[in-house]
Parts: sequence; C-alpha cells; structure tokens
Amino acid sequence: MKIARLSEILQQLDKESYYWQIGFYGLVTAMTSHALFMILFMFLDVPILVAINLVSVGIYLYCIFVLGLPTLKNKDDSIIGWLVYGELIGSNFLATWLLGKEAGFQFYFYIPAMLPFFINSYSRIVYFLRLSFIILLALWVETSPLFNYTRIAIDPIWLQRFHWLNLLIFLLIISALSYLYALKEQAYSRRLIHDLSRDPLTGLYNRRILDEILQESQQNSSSTGLLLLDVDHFKQINDRYGHECGDQVLKKLAEELTTLYFDEKILRWGGEEFLIVVPGSDSERIYASAERVRTRIESLTVPCGESLLAFSVTVGATLFRGESESFRDALVRTDEALYHGKKKGRNCCIVLL
Ligand code: GH3
Ligand code: MG
Ligand code: MG
Repeated sequence: MKIARLSEILQQLDKESYYWQIGFYGLVTAMTSHALFMILFMFLDVPILVAINLVSVGIYLYCIFVLGLPTLKNKDDSIIGWLVYGELIGSNFLATWLLGKEAGFQFYFYIPAMLPFFINSYSRIVYFLRLSFIILLALWVETSPLFNYTRIAIDPIWLQRFHWLNLLIFLLIISALSYLYALKEQAYSRRLIHDLSRDPLTGLYNRRILDEILQESQQNSSSTGLLLLDVDHFKQINDRYGHECGDQVLKKLAEELTTLYFDEKILRWGGEEFLIVVPGSDSERIYASAERVRTRIESLTVPCGESLLAFSVTVGATLFRGESESFRDALVRTDEALYHGKKKGRNCCIVLL
C-alpha cells in the first residue's frame, strides 16, 4: 500500500481538475470535523462515539493519502464516492441512534444529496438510488419514535448544544458547496463564451462577436472604420510550402495585427481574411491606418523549413456611417475595395467611401 506525503499531494493539487481540488478540501474538512468531535466525546467520556469518530477519521485519511490524489494515474473516484457516502450515512446514523434526533446528527444525511452536482461520472441510476435511500432514511428518522431518546448517559444540555452546532456546520457545508458549484458554473460559462467567440488557430475573434463589436463602436463614435485584409496569393503559399506553413503565416499575421491595433477589434473573417473595426475613424485616418498595416506586413518574414517567407496583404477599407446605412452595405463596400485592390495588382490599399 503506497501512502503519499502531504507535500506530494499539495504539489499535485494545482494540476488537478476543479472537482478534485474541491474533493480534497472536502475530505480534509470532514476529517478535521470528525477529529474535533472525537476530542469532544473524549472530554464527555462517551467511548463508543470516540470509536465511531476514530473510524471516520481513518476512512478520510485512507481516502486522502491512499486512494485519492497521490495515485493520480489510477485513482478510483467511485470507491472514494462510496466510502464518503457510507461514512456520512453510517456514522451519523449511529450517532442519531445513540443520542437521539435532538442532537441533530441526522442533518448530515442530506449532504450526499448535493454531491452529485459536482461529480459528472456518476450514472443517473446510482444517483437516483442514493438519493432515494437518503430521503427514505431521513423520513424514517424524523417519524420513528426509535430516535426520540438517547441511549447513552449524557448531560441533556449537550444534546441541545450538539443540535445547534450540527445545524450550523450543516448550513455552512451546504452554503460552501453551493458557492463552489456556482463558481464552477461561472468559470465554465466564461470559458465557453470565450471559446465560442474565438478562432482556435489565431486566437482572434470570429464572426460571432460582430454584433457586440458593432454596438460598442456605435455607442462610442459616429463613424467606424472597417479594414478588410486578404493575404495575397495565399493558395500559392499553401501549395508551395505546405498547409502547416500557411497556418504559421496566419498566426504571425494575427500576432502583428494584435500589436498594431491595440484598442481596435480584430476578427478572423474567413480563411485568410481579417476584418479590423476601428472606432472613431474618418476619411483621412482610415487610409493612413490601412497603409500602416500593409507596410508593416510587407516587412514581415515567417520561417518555413529552410527559407524565410515574406508575404503581403491587400486592404479594402471604408467608413461605416451607423445611422444612414446598414452594416451589410458597408461590408459590401470593403469587399468591392478589396476586389479593386486585387485587380490593381495586390499589396495595396483601396478606400471606398
Ligand atoms: P488572392 O491574392 O487573390 O487573395 O489569392 P489567394 O490564393 O490568397 O486566394 P484564394 O481565395 O484562391 O485562396 C485562399 C486559400 O486559403 C484557399 C484555402 O485553402 C486557404 N485557407 C483557408 N483557410 C486556411 C487555413 O486555416 N490554413 C491554411 N493553411 N490555409 C487556409
Ligand atoms: Mg480570400
Ligand atoms: Mg487571398
């Protein structure tokens, strides 16, 4: 049996999934609470409850140091899941049987009902069966006279203290679980929104973000500059140097655009076409802006195999006058401008107003 060192576990924890990070702290919290209860029952001189809590501490130590995080390659979360479930139900059932329901240990039965929210690997049927068992057990404990009295000699004032303490701990645990679950959901949807609006090759925005960009730029200014860039003879680059090299050109181009246009929004519009949205532009600035990007790109090189590859872009540009036309009209104009640029011989800028 391999037992991990705590330092080893903590080191590994950063690389773990969110579920395991929460799981680890959950196991540590459960183990600490049982250790504290064990000391309390020692102080109250109730050996049977000291023994029950000792077993619980043992189960959590076993989960943390043997089954769980250290043996990452072959860790089996379903065994840990069953052990935690069994421990929560078993030890709290025994405590409720011995002390009666006034002590409030039955509150902890409800915790496993929340856990499947975190654990995607459980099958629905297992979740349903576990949940049904918890509900039946809780109803039985609440309705049966078997749990109305204590079977151990203990000062009744302590039963009341346990009641409030257990209620408090239970509420703190479910609040923490709900909070962590909400954090997980938020992080997940943020990542999803980010991924949906980005192009995986270049990391630039894709067309999905367009509505948002337009609203933003129209709020800030009356006329928005649109630059449509298209790599010249890109098909030849692919054919001659390979698709991989073509991808490197697109990445390099995206990097350069990001450094050149810090405040502007840059979209990968299609295969080797990029749209730059320049808020607050005018007829003079739009040409200067287009020329700046064209000359910069002309000077770039990308290593392709043995050689350094230079490439160029043609830029079609226009101004989108928000109130007097539709965005589609403005886009058609950038396309026309780009077409003129290509006809003129490429590696140039054309502005159509
Ligand atoms: P022009 O100067 O007239 O723009 O010529 P072109 O060869 O650039 O234009 P064309 O539209 O004929 O070719 C675009 C090529 O871009 C065709 C397509 O295979 C390639 N392409 C599109 N997306 C990607 C990509 O993500 N990676 C690579 N490597 N190539 C791509
Ligand atoms: Mg093209
Ligand atoms: Mg092209």
